[in-house]
Order: sequence, then structure tokens, then C-alpha cells
Amino acid sequence: MKKGIVWFRNNLRVPDNEALTRALRECDDVLCVYILDTRTWNASVEAPRMGSVRAKFILESLHDLQGEIEELGGSIEFVSGRAVDEIPSLMESFGADRCYAQKEDAWEETEEERLLSNRINLILTGGKGIWEEADLPFALNDLPAVFSSFRRKVEKKMQIRSVFQSPKSIVCSWNSTTELPILTSLSFEDYPKDERAVLDFRGGAREAKKWMNQWIWERDCLKEYKETRNGLVGADYSSKLSPWLSIGCISAVEVYWEIKKYEEERVANESTYWLFFELLWREFFRFVARRYGAGIFKRHGIKDAIERATLGDPKTFKRWKEGRTPNAFVNANMIELATTGWMSNRGRQNVASYLVHDLGQDWLSGARHFEQHLIDYDPCSNYGNWMYLGGVGNDPRPNRAFNLEKQAEYYDPDETFRKLWLA
Ligand SMILES: Cc1cc2nc3c(=O)[nH]c(=O)nc-3n(C[C@H](O)[C@H](O)[C@H](O)COP(=O)(O)OP(=O)(O)OC[C@H]3O[C@@H](n4cnc5c(N)ncnc54)[C@H](O)[C@@H]3O)c2cc1C
Repeated sequence: MKKGIVWFRNNLRVPDNEALTRALRECDDVLCVYILDTRTWNASVEAPRMGSVRAKFILESLHDLQGEIEELGGSIEFVSGRAVDEIPSLMESFGADRCYAQKEDAWEETEEERLLSNRINLILTGGKGIWEEADLPFALNDLPAVFSSFRRKVEKKMQIRSVFQSPKSIVCSWNSTTELPILTSLSFEDYPKDERAVLDFRGGAREAKKWMNQWIWERDCLKEYKETRNGLVGADYSSKLSPWLSIGCISAVEVYWEIKKYEEERVANESTYWLFFELLWREFFRFVARRYGAGIFKRHGIKDAIERATLGDPKTFKRWKEGRTPNAFVNANMIELATTGWMSNRGRQNVASYLVHDLGQDWLSGARHFEQHLIDYDPCSNYGNWMYLGGVGNDPRPNRAFNLEKQAEYYDPDETFRKLWLA
């Protein structure tokens, strides 16, 4: 009898899950596990990497995942520690000789894969994005330096796989010995919901599908996405799928096929294309992360330069974090982030540009602040975008400073957004 483990990472879903599909095909007895990595799941340090909003969202997603797995007859363990230590010991107890997991893109995650594969038979699968490295029409080392060239090379030539069907059942002889922790037992503080939030985000693959269905079909927002996507207030201006995409409650491939279905059944226009275009940015930053490894977390980014000393001073940085700068548009965005874990794409670009170019502060500190607070934090997209705005990434124009006054006037002409958060 072949026994295998499925290690759930940023693929917290049962549908379209290649690691799970493969394990069920190749093994007779399959146990699932999620590792609460103590480097991230640590609320008691001075600057935790993850705040309460994201922690809560992930715990909700794990609860949903556990429900789906158990309904199919399976079992999932929740273990605190490091995968490199915990997975080998769980495999030994269960009697498994292999572990299946989704391949990740960022440095720390790929390092964990490397260390773990020195100890056990680790079978890595795709699933994080639309394409895998092997699908690219060029070697990773030849990744185009700028997005437009990447897009031109990939989008026409490359095919997009179909989704993996959900399994009908999971055979598992193991009874789970652990329970899913709750927010406060992990030392995170519970926080009140704010009625001004763009959406009441709830974690889980089923919630992701529910929202995608509402936004695309019921609210019919996709058909005008290109015009609304720079909005600041409310649920409809953009898809709001990023929190679910970042931890894999839904896959980018599932979103892609939903766009195609909408194009066939309702309308195909510039807006429907544009949602795919944005998913290509996500792909681009995934491959940038793979290509440059730890480089994207360094102050000099992926530019060939010597690490510069930290610029700026702590007081100015603190005022930015707390939304107490001289700029009301920045403050409104920063307060939205601190209160809800969300900020629009327009907001993110402006506050990042302001921090770096107007306040002369360190982009890396800004990126780390986002890492802690964003509900949709993703290492590749976050550090990729921050490097871009900090002038140490892929932007062909090194000093990409926004004119904040103009931006606020154009995107928040009657100050609805500023009034909402600064009232
Ligand atoms: C400084 C900065 C930091 C960011 N940090 C993150 C992050 O940690 N996690 C994250 O998911 N996105 C990040 N983004 C990208 C972008 O702001 C968000 O993906 C987007 O606002 C999420 O809202 P949405 O799902 O409604 O996006 P939509 O406009 O509906 O776009 C659909 C999807 O495309 C992808 N996407 C859109 N824009 C980008 C982009 N510029 N880069 C990469 N992917 C994109 C996302 O997966 C998004 O869910 C950051 C952008 C900036 C400027």
C-alpha cells in the first residue's frame, strides 16, 4: 500500500489542486497537512510579519479546507513549526514515503523545498500561477527585464491548461490528532469589522467562488472593469480576488477560465481582456521572484548596485504608517490599510511613491509594513511592485514619482474617499 502526504501551502483549495490530484492518483492512503510556519505565525515579536487581519483570513480558509477534506473522507493535521522538521516526522508516524506539495516562487519557500527534499521524497507540482517555469518560451535567466516584453512573449504563444477536477473522495486511514487553532490562541488580537471596508472578506475556497460569481456574473462588473479598476471606494471597482488568490483559495487558472466563459456567454471586450492582463502582472512578478531569489528582498533590489544605507528617519516613517503625513490622500489610504488590511491598487501606488520620492524614505521598510498589514500579501507581487516604485526593480524609468496632488484630484475629485477615511 502506497501512503503519501499532501502538504498544503498557498493552495488552500480542493478544486484545481494538482498536488492533491496527483497524490490521490498515485497513492492508496493520503493524509493532508498544513504547517503554521513559526517565522510567519508569530504575533509576539516587535514587528510581526503577519498581522491579525491576514491571520484571521487564513484561519477561515483553513477551516473551509478542513471541511471540504473531511466531507470527502480525508483528514488534515495543523502543525506549528518548520516544514523541514515537521513533515519528515509526520511521514514517519503515518508511514508515508512521499510528500506532494505545490511549488512556490519566493526565496524562503523555495529554500524550504530545497532543505526538505534533502530529507524526504518531495514531489513538487504546479498550481501557483497560470504557467510554470518549464512552460516559458525562454530560459528563466533570459526573463525579459520589463513587463511589456514579457507579456508579448508569453501571451500569444502559450497555452493555458484546463482545471484539475475536484476529487470525489479521499481515502485516509489516519485520524487527525491536532485541531485548527483560533486567532487568539495564536496571540493575535481579534479586531472589529469596519463598515467602511470595501468588502467583508471571508477566507475559503467556497467563499472565493461565491464572490467571483457575484462580481463577474450577478453584479456584472467585469464588462466595465477597465474603466472602473482605478477606483477607491466600494466592492465593485476591481475584482477583489487578490486575498483568495494570494493563498490559493482560488487559482489564477480558474479565474482565467471564468473570464473565458463570461466572454463566450455574455461579452468579450477590453475590460474582459484587462483582467487577464492584470493576472499577467502577477505571473511576471512570480518569475521575477524565481529568477532573482533573495534579491527582491534586498535594498538594492534586482539592480546591480551596492546596498545603500537606510534612508530617512523613524519619525517620518511612523507618521506615514499611521496616516499622519501632510498629504490627506496618503493618510486616507494608510488608515484604510491599518483598519481593514485592504488598499486599492491606485492607493498602493500613490502611498509607495509618496514614501520613497516625497518623503525620501526606504522602500524596503514600506514593503515590510505592507507585508504585515495587507490581507492579500504575496511576496512576489508585494516586493515586485515595491521594487518597481522604489526604482530598484523592473521599471525602465528609474524615478517613477507620482504627482500626488494630480492623482488625488483625478481619482478622488469630490474627496469621497478622503472624507470616508478621515472623517
Ligand atoms: C506597492 C504595491 C504592493 C502590492 N502588494 C501586493 C500584494 O502583496 N499582493 C497582491 O496580490 N497584490 C499586490 N499589489 C498589486 C495590486 O495592487 C493588487 O493585486 C490589487 O490591487 C488587488 O486588487 P484586486 O484583486 O481587486 O485586483 P484586480 O484589479 O481585480 O486584478 C486582478 C488580479 O490581478 C493581479 N494583479 C493586479 N494588479 C497587479 C499588480 N500590479 N501586480 C501583481 N498582480 C496584480 C492580482 O492577483 C489581482 O487580484 C501591490 C501593488 C503595489 C503598487
